[in-house]
Amino acid sequence: MRDTFLPYGHQWIDDKDIERVVEVLKGDWITTGPKIKEFEDAICRYVGGKYGVAVNSGTSALDIAVTALELDGGEIITTPFTFVATANAILYNGLKPVFADIQRDTCNIDPEEIRKKITPKTRAIIYVDYAGQPCDIKEIREIADEHELFLIEDAAHALGAEYDGKRVGSFADITTFSFHPVKHITTGEGGMCVTGNDGLAEKMRMLRNHGIDKDAHKRFGPSASWSYDLKMLGRNYRMTDIQAALGLSQLGRLEDFIARRSEIAKLYYKELSNLSEVVLPHVKPNVRHVWHLYTIQVEGVDRDRFFTGMRTRNIGVNVHYIPVYKFSYYRNFKLEAVFPVTEQTFSRIVTLPLFPKMTDVDALNVVTAIRETIREEQMELK
Ligand SMILES: *Cc1c(COP(=O)(O)O)cnc(C)c1O
Repeated sequence: MRDTFLPYGHQWIDDKDIERVVEVLKGDWITTGPKIKEFEDAICRYVGGKYGVAVNSGTSALDIAVTALELDGGEIITTPFTFVATANAILYNGLKPVFADIQRDTCNIDPEEIRKKITPKTRAIIYVDYAGQPCDIKEIREIADEHELFLIEDAAHALGAEYDGKRVGSFADITTFSFHPVKHITTGEGGMCVTGNDGLAEKMRMLRNHGIDKDAHKRFGPSASWSYDLKMLGRNYRMTDIQAALGLSQLGRLEDFIARRSEIAKLYYKELSNLSEVVLPHVKPNVRHVWHLYTIQVEGVDRDRFFTGMRTRNIGVNVHYIPVYKFSYYRNFKLEAVFPVTEQTFSRIVTLPLFPKMTDVDALNVVTAIRETIREEQMELK
């Protein structure tokens, strides 16, 4: 058995990354400086987007993405099988989250279920590319066009992912990314909104900075030195140049990170595909999956006991996710609805460790622990 704990996700920061950060610390601008735009432009070039707005977290990115749509009440349809931040962004903005069930094979929101949830109050759809596999974007786009709905893509798991040969970043009205340490690249905390719409980009730039219109001085003539306008109610969601420098350096390593994640996913597939007690992730043919998470579903084995057995063996398995409607805060809203696929998936799912710095030996330790845990469970049952 391993003598050290193997987490499910972990950043990989090397000496070059650190040098880039130190250069910024020694310079003049540690926030609102030139590194921010450089990072925004680099992400846009990579994902094929037009305007990037860097912020201090993926959660802030979702918040200002919703605010920028200026919806004035109504409902937003989203998946319950996500991190709470996705749905919280709807509540921050005084809108009602309406959940739609997921697909059994990908754990992504099911376009057919979205259709069932549309009402005259529906204003937008926020879809999440679960684990790093893009949703059925074409089908979701059709629904949005038919009902004149905005689309926000929560791509916190999907930096570098592709759908029909095109990178995630320009499919929705706004795409949001997260740079939390467990995500593909990190800035410590951080996030970004990407959009092709200059009006939305301008609003989001204001919203991350209290709602201040920085260009006001141009119009206010001689009083330019002190004058600015507050146009919307924003917050301080700014990213620092220290973070942007780290992000730029990490972005240069992203393709290597994704390649390594894919190698480990392949290793898991090879070692686990003959085990009848585990169902492995399904990858659709028209996508590039970038493996933010590697989740299995256990069959004929109790998930919670399996989880404990793995943790006892120092394997940092996890559960992604507790469906959002189950949390007590969300139960207050009495969102009366049933989600059979989400329920069944939640009762069986387990996230295995997967991050680029993991070695093959680490991954094989996970495989051995799975075999041992299953055998132990089967002995118990006899
Ligand atoms: C990580 C994550 C977020 C939030 O990102 P933070 O940077 O942690 O605020 C939002 N949505 C999903 C699906 C995530 O995984």
